[in-house]
Amino acid sequence: MPDPVLVWFRQDLRLADNPVLAAMTDRPVLPVHVLEEPPGGAAAWWLHHSLAALGRALTERGAPLLLLRGDPRRLIPDLAARIGAAEVHAGRLTEPSARARDAETHAALQAAGRGLVLHRNALLHEPHLVRTGAGNPFSVYTPFSRAVFALLEGLPPPLPAPTHLTLAPGAPEGLPPDALRLLPRPPVPDWAADFPAHWTPGEEGATARLGAFLEHGLAGYADRRNDPAAEWGTSGLSPHLHLGEISPRQVWHAAREKGGKGVETFLKELLWREFSHHLLWHRPEMPTAPLRPEFRAFPWRRDADLLRAWQRGQTGYPIVDAGMRQLWRTGWMHNRVRMIAASFLVKHLLQPWQDGAAWFLDTLVDADLAANSASWQWVAGCGADAAPYFRIFNPVLQGEKFDPDGAYVRRWCPELARLPDRFIHRPYEAPEAVLRGAGVRPGRDYQPPLVDLALGRDRALAAFASIKGGQ
Ligand code: FAD
Repeated sequence: MPDPVLVWFRQDLRLADNPVLAAMTDRPVLPVHVLEEPPGGAAAWWLHHSLAALGRALTERGAPLLLLRGDPRRLIPDLAARIGAAEVHAGRLTEPSARARDAETHAALQAAGRGLVLHRNALLHEPHLVRTGAGNPFSVYTPFSRAVFALLEGLPPPLPAPTHLTLAPGAPEGLPPDALRLLPRPPVPDWAADFPAHWTPGEEGATARLGAFLEHGLAGYADRRNDPAAEWGTSGLSPHLHLGEISPRQVWHAAREKGGKGVETFLKELLWREFSHHLLWHRPEMPTAPLRPEFRAFPWRRDADLLRAWQRGQTGYPIVDAGMRQLWRTGWMHNRVRMIAASFLVKHLLQPWQDGAAWFLDTLVDADLAANSASWQWVAGCGADAAPYFRIFNPVLQGEKFDPDGAYVRRWCPELARLPDRFIHRPYEAPEAVLRGAGVRPGRDYQPPLVDLALGRDRALAAFASIKGGQ
């Protein structure tokens, strides 16, 4: 009998194109997931269902998933010792806390003559292997994407899922998914009640979504990806990619095989994900500290009431409010609206980007430390390759440009649904008769703007000037 192997599942909750599993077909395996700290609320909901789906798939293949809760630094070496595994295999992660944990787990395993073998299965590239001509990490997206595109020319095809696995003997009793307590439970109201109508977590759901996007969305992607109301304007693959229910290599190859218009633009977006992880790997401070040091002195005006109004979708700017409510109801927000809502918070309301990022990490089903931190820093102007600070999105003009007939706003802010197009993004300018005709009682059905846009913009520019010496 060959040596047993401990297969440690983390953000690679799939069977297909999983190099960790592909190498194990002739060795007995014990698949395990250890919950240390639950992720944010919406991502925890997703994780619960994803683990349940992976558990079913692994059971069908002959090696059920062992679920544990606790400190992996201790549990993983103990488990390896218990089943006599010389090696623990897992996918490489970029999050600073996961890297530190892996280093400690590796050290504990090594002390007992065992090893932790990490595979590339979450990214198309290895963040430590992609370098500029001068040998440095990239800090600008365009040259990064060019370099990675070139490296990916010979990208091998995805690996098949194993048809059968042999379970290593000696596993202890694990926990059922419910015991991980990842779902909202009374007395907390079930804020995830609508999620199942939008999402099917797990590998099958991911594959189905990719198939549907290739069929209905890819060809129009370049034209429709900025239309938040379009049904297949974007893929909706982000939560699946985050937990590795589908690999970026599967998505890359499938999009290329499908071909046609839209492919290039779509692949570039996938490379934004890669770029975010590249940044996080090389700048582990990114989740909390601005990458541009001058922003450490930025004069934020932290205000709990303003933050709460933004979180609840009560800013008085319909596109922002629609986005924040889509986020609350579905655990996801369209990318264009994420940019508008985030910009409004950090610029017009002068709230620290870290507060917005924390809310997103708690409410997004695709909450991803790399993509979220990189994107918030990009919007706030303090990131590596950030939008210039002085480019301040006007939420009304953005709404009129990307949601011209207000279909998105009408869906998520139903109290405004009957307003004519002309006022749908600026209800505070509508004459009283128009409001009355649309059934909107100002201040009661929809709230007045939290801040005047011109005033907010001037204040933001002044704050910026104060850290740039008046530039
Ligand atoms: P598609 O347009 O179909 O793109 C395909 C895939 O490419 C996505 O699934 C995603 O994995 C990747 N991708 C696309 N755009 C980006 C981007 N700008 N940065 C990184 N990856 C990208 N994305 C997350 O996955 N998790 C987050 O926590 C997250 N937080 C964000 C916060 C802010 C303030 C902003 C502006 C963006 C954030 N994004 C985040 C990036 C982006 O909004 C989402 O990846 C995208 O909306 C997901 O929808 P989709 O799968 O339909 O994307």
